Amino acid sequence: MNKNQSVKKDNFNIEISRHSLSHILATAVLEMFPEAKFGVGPAIENGFYYDFGLPRTLIPEDLPILEEKMRKIIKQNLSLEKREITHKEAVEHFNKAKQKYKVEILATEAKEKFVSVYKTGAFVDLCRGPHIDSAGEIDSQSFKLTKIAGAYWRGDEKNKMLQRIYGVAFNTPKELNDYLRQQEEAEKRDHRKLGKELDLFTFSDLVGSGLPLYTPKGVVIIDELKKHIEKICAKYGFKKVMTPHLAKIDLFKLSGHAGKFNKELFHVSSSQGHDFVMKPVQCPHQAQIYASKQRSYRDLPIRYMESEKQYRAEKSGEVGGLNRVYAITVEDGHSFCRVEQVKEEIINMVNIIKNFYSVIGLWGNHWVSLSVRDYKHPEKYIGDPKDWDKCEKMLEEISKEMELDAKKIEGEAAVYGPKLDFMFKDAVGKEIQIPTVQLDFAMPKRFNLVYTNERGKEEFVVMVHRAILGSYERFLALMIEHFAGAFPLWLSPVQAKILPISTEKHLEYAKKIYEEFLASDIRAELDESNETLGKKIRAGELQKIPYLLIVGDKEMKENTVRVRQRGKGDIGEMNLTKFLERIKMEIENKKSK
Ligand SMILES: [Zn+2]
Ligand SMILES: [Zn+2]
Repeated sequence: MNKNQSVKKDNFNIEISRHSLSHILATAVLEMFPEAKFGVGPAIENGFYYDFGLPRTLIPEDLPILEEKMRKIIKQNLSLEKREITHKEAVEHFNKAKQKYKVEILATEAKEKFVSVYKTGAFVDLCRGPHIDSAGEIDSQSFKLTKIAGAYWRGDEKNKMLQRIYGVAFNTPKELNDYLRQQEEAEKRDHRKLGKELDLFTFSDLVGSGLPLYTPKGVVIIDELKKHIEKICAKYGFKKVMTPHLAKIDLFKLSGHAGKFNKELFHVSSSQGHDFVMKPVQCPHQAQIYASKQRSYRDLPIRYMESEKQYRAEKSGEVGGLNRVYAITVEDGHSFCRVEQVKEEIINMVNIIKNFYSVIGLWGNHWVSLSVRDYKHPEKYIGDPKDWDKCEKMLEEISKEMELDAKKIEGEAAVYGPKLDFMFKDAVGKEIQIPTVQLDFAMPKRFNLVYTNERGKEEFVVMVHRAILGSYERFLALMIEHFAGAFPLWLSPVQAKILPISTEKHLEYAKKIYEEFLASDIRAELDESNETLGKKIRAGELQKIPYLLIVGDKEMKENTVRVRQRGKGDIGEMNLTKFLERIKMEIENKKSK
């Protein structure tokens, strides 16, 4: 058997186990609440849930009690006994048992002549299966009930609110523990928590949720990322442009975004009769810069980039942290080129992605999706199918030549064209999709973006969209979580902090060092508090500052600093000039660790 097959089989089994656990949970709930009403209980990613109508609100303390009952059921090895009964019998049974949700399912979904029911102890469920044969097949230490949440019956807020119990389950206790540890680690690294502790961004009730305000420290990180990406892109011929946040809706009607983002558009009007929308994307604005002049084949390719805000009216219940916001700062770029130049353009863009993510330390831990059309629903896409065919073929060639080993995934393309999407894994193992390179034959036609060829005839350019780090909001969240707030030196808001042992005796020397650092473009802080040295060190460590420099009598006399490096502790006394050289070189090298 090859590896793929065995993985597939394991996935299949774990799904069955997870779903069977939801039956076992329901059996335990029935034991605790004989009057419980049962909704549905599917397997989900990493676990399962079940929805219940209960006589009282569950409390977290109920979960270990239910877990114990489930373990007992597993120990008793109760069977999950399958029976085929007629639809009529099923309706009678669930009516008698006063299980109105099951009766509703029988009336709306499970309308076959025969339906299957599964019995575990006293609990009988209407279910298609499959399940394990008996509860004992499950390792009683490989699952855990994790949380309680409200859930409307059938996800419809007009319906009654039920109580949902979530659980996670794996094949072995080790897998479960690994998963729980990973979750715990993710919680510790949560960008909302760390962003506050490290003072990187904030929200104001008066400004509104979904509208992050970046503090000086947060801006340092964003600026460093921006400088870094612009420097790489400039080497590949990208030129910076600037475009306003507003536009007439006509621009987006013509581009097709007004239809696509209809519900997400912010409209802006004024007493002077203005009627604008906030831009939901950057592309049409940049396209208008291209369209502002006559272009010849000799001018191509033309490459623009900008880091500007764009706006999406997300549902208010869905905004939170930096991952879902109304105002998104997007690092966006486009190349306008001829068909024959597409390949080289994309190769350049992939090289930019490789370069950027290598420095961040994420390259290598990734896979690439060649996102193509959903061939069954061509109506979802803008543009000529012939152009689509051409684009998809080109991307496949590039994937092969650049050894990207891209996986072709149907239905993942953007509205305008097929694309290459890059998926990375962060330090906790969470998969994130950010960079994308997207071909577009549609927008040039909509905006009449043309050039004159060698024979003096007009031809459409090809527009290639590329995002390297995507939105600065999401990327900052990723950086915070990936590095757990301990940013590499070049990204650190404060790179070195000077701690005089005594404010009275050593402050002057400390100030001299501080000023020297500022003059050398090193982001330094000076601790002028009257705290003990121990407390000063602790405060610096909590802020995850890469270098803490302690100065006392000895250092002052010898023109040195005592260096504490993050993660390493005291690394000894160092001549001030030498330390300056060392830190400058480290910043220059942009090492990710
Ligand atoms: Zn079932
Ligand atoms: Zn674009």
